[in-house]
Amino acid sequence: MNSKIPEDLMERAYQGKCTKEDALQLLEVPPFELFRFADKLRDLAVGDTVTYVVNRNINFTSRCIGTCGFCAFRTNNGKVLSIEEIMEKVREAEKANATEVCIQGGLLPDVGLDFYQGIAETIKAEFPEMHIHSFSPMEVYHASRVSEIPVKEALRKLKRSGLDTMPGTAAEILSDRVRKIICPSKLRTSEWVEVVRQAHAAGIPTTATMMYGHVETPEERIDHMLIIREIQKETGGITEFVPLPFMPYNNPIGEKMIREGRYATPGLEDLKIYAVSRVLFHGHVDNIQASWVKLGKKLAQFSLHCGTNDLGGTLMEESISRSAGASHGEMITVDELEWMIHGAGRIPKERNTLYRGVEFASGNVRKMSGCGAYE
Ligand code: SF4
Repeated sequence: MNSKIPEDLMERAYQGKCTKEDALQLLEVPPFELFRFADKLRDLAVGDTVTYVVNRNINFTSRCIGTCGFCAFRTNNGKVLSIEEIMEKVREAEKANATEVCIQGGLLPDVGLDFYQGIAETIKAEFPEMHIHSFSPMEVYHASRVSEIPVKEALRKLKRSGLDTMPGTAAEILSDRVRKIICPSKLRTSEWVEVVRQAHAAGIPTTATMMYGHVETPEERIDHMLIIREIQKETGGITEFVPLPFMPYNNPIGEKMIREGRYATPGLEDLKIYAVSRVLFHGHVDNIQASWVKLGKKLAQFSLHCGTNDLGGTLMEESISRSAGASHGEMITVDELEWMIHGAGRIPKERNTLYRGVEFASGNVRKMSGCGAYE
């Protein structure tokens, strides 16, 4: 069968050199041709193995001085969990065989680095094996400003306190035009990039995310992915890419969209983004994660045939997406995740945060480079 995807474009993709124009062109080909191509690249990169992590989300407060117009999570008077309350949740996570805790929260006005270090140190004192995957680039940036120390030093201190990896959240869309509209008080594109680069230099790998489906253009989505690809070429510190569809409920940006007759991205558009990200990141980031919380379990399962190879975490609790209208639940059991993966004709495999030790069905050895923390 003749493919509508030009040979030279496919060749560039195999070599990890897909361009912005290539990516835009892929958005125009018949979707199932794009999905087939992304699925082929997924097969080359990781084979039929589909991974997940047993983890727990802990949001220590919804109180926040931020002004993000897409946020349905922020409150003015939410409770701030004490260290003991956080530890209670970590203990429950450990009992449930979690290997990772993902701790994030709103920005508190006078809370500096000591607070974040205290959380990491207390967890590591009781659970040295628990992987701490916590604190967004925005939280680190905020803490370093409150504590009046450079970001680089803040990251070194956090690493010494036990922080293992960071979620690459707060990225939204890495375009200052978009950020001025949706999150004007958040760190700018260059600042996000710098925090992430410095984290990698300090031996703290990160994930990378993209929240799409609000005011951004298709070009800005592709530019976002290319910025992340450039970071990865330089540092090798990105473990996975996670596209996250915007939930337009209970927040000002979403409410304006809905008044204008625009809603959450349709499933077909979500799948095209997952597929294009697989193509753009080929040879650079092997793991493309589908969020079952945002997509729903059925679309997340289908995305495994459109380029994704990881279903994220079991979570145990989830409040950020839920407050913005996600209705797919706060936790999923290992049994159900494995059921979904088997149902897609793939091989389930529990992973740790760094995908270390995962033998992919493609026969590829886990390849990560550049970031000392992988060794
Ligand atoms: S997205 Fe985060 S930083 Fe922005 S307002 Fe919400 S809680 Fe605050």
